[in-house]
Amino acid sequence: MKICIDPGHGGNDPGAVGRCDDNDLCEHDITLQICLHLEGILLQSGHLTYLTRRIDRNLSLPARSQFANRYQADLFVSIHCNAAYQAAAAGIETWIHPFSSVGRKYADPIQASLIAAFPDHKDRGVKEANFHVLRETAMPAVLVETEFISNPEQAVFLSKDENQRKIAQAIMEGILRA
Ligand SMILES: [Zn+2]
Repeated sequence: MKICIDPGHGGNDPGAVGRCDDNDLCEHDITLQICLHLEGILLQSGHLTYLTRRIDRNLSLPARSQFANRYQADLFVSIHCNAAYQAAAAGIETWIHPFSSVGRKYADPIQASLIAAFPDHKDRGVKEANFHVLRETAMPAVLVETEFISNPEQAVFLSKDENQRKIAQAIMEGILRA
């Protein structure tokens, strides 16, 4: 399979910013690390991958969907961290374009695999939204909100390399199960 992996945000768009060990923790750094791990294990299992960015840089939403379409990927996976005004908000969720049955085919097992890997995390389910990268990509597309970076406890969770690797592993297992 050809899989386009999209680390959310980058460059002067840090995405959501949380706090960890008295330092800012930026969504764009976490998403890139998870995506680099995901690329590594997908390549090891014989898949072709394409990252929309592999360094910290600006990238517009149209650039992301155009890359995926030009690459003629079989699947588009965008990785994000969630944020909310309520610090207690927590959990993992996966988004698809409304009524996208091909998106759901991947989103259901990816979400299930993440919750199986992290059973003490809240399962917020598979949700539908008219996000640019879900709408404008010509292949099945999912967007994973890995946890809430705005939640102090979950920011610590997201900051840990072992958890970033485990998230990538769970996403890969979900893709393979689909
Ligand atoms: Zn984001």
